Amino acid sequence: MQRFTFNRFLIMSLGCLAALLNHSAYAEEVVVYSARIEQLIKPMFDAFTKETGIKVKYITDNEGALLARLQAEGKNSPADMLITADVGNLWAASQAKLLKPVQSDVLENNIPAHLRDPQQEWFGLSIRARTLVYNTKKVKPEELSTYEDLADPKWNKRLCLRTSKKVYNQSLVAMMIAEHGEAETEKIVKGWIANLATDPLSDDTRALEFVAAGKCDVTLVNTYYFGRLMKKDPTLPLAIFWPNQNGAGVHVNISGAGITRYSRNEKAAIKLLEFLSSDKAQNLFADVNMEYPVNPKIAVEPFVASWGNFKQNPMNLSKAGELQTTAVKLMDRAGYQ
Ligand code: FE
Repeated sequence: MQRFTFNRFLIMSLGCLAALLNHSAYAEEVVVYSARIEQLIKPMFDAFTKETGIKVKYITDNEGALLARLQAEGKNSPADMLITADVGNLWAASQAKLLKPVQSDVLENNIPAHLRDPQQEWFGLSIRARTLVYNTKKVKPEELSTYEDLADPKWNKRLCLRTSKKVYNQSLVAMMIAEHGEAETEKIVKGWIANLATDPLSDDTRALEFVAAGKCDVTLVNTYYFGRLMKKDPTLPLAIFWPNQNGAGVHVNISGAGITRYSRNEKAAIKLLEFLSSDKAQNLFADVNMEYPVNPKIAVEPFVASWGNFKQNPMNLSKAGELQTTAVKLMDRAGYQ
């Protein structure tokens, strides 16, 4: 009997020790599922590990695949953090109960309220501005004013748009629905389609190339695509125009992150999230892709700053998620392929 008890004691002790070791092994590591590609995240993770000693493991894949994986893995998921390049996907993850709320003064101080979830499940880490780019030989900036104005017949056969399949223009249209209502927004999108110079294009870079080649006069893109193209060839006749400056402001989206619902290393993961919003990481996070820091105290990278200041739409980005399905249906009705 005594021997039995001792053995049991021994086994229990070993069990506790194993659990402890296991726990401390976990605490040294954060696992990230990222839709942002490796070269855009690794520099920040390295800096974080250097400062805290906490290792960051990550996998990268497209957003749909990562959400499906989180869903399939459920409680057994090794992931602590999800990073995406669009608010629509963070919103979808939150709706699917894949994220958990985080209460952090650091995040609240560093990230403006419209760029984070009112439910505190996701947080913007860089701003991606979607704006107008025009051909400087064919358009005077005074002719441009708003996203809505691109529906005016004066732009007939002069507009290029990226396909509606990509979430970027879905988010833009969703935010327009939040501002104008569905009926008014549908009229605007129909006007855009009537003004197209060519069928919707596969990506933002292609749209910019069409404008540069004079196949159309103006398009709608994220500014970092403009930056990449101009770095390759500064002589291109392209310029940025900031629309809606007397109204709602420029449409912005975010790259952002949330802590997964079943994270086992929540403390370390929150530390990483806070680090990504801090002075030390904000420039790394934004500059590497010519985006804008979310933290308004952080200086914009000089090349990006040379495109000028703009007023951004202060409406909470959760609207883009809430109205995404409505936007997709509306674009379909408007004949936007
Ligand atoms: Fe992009």
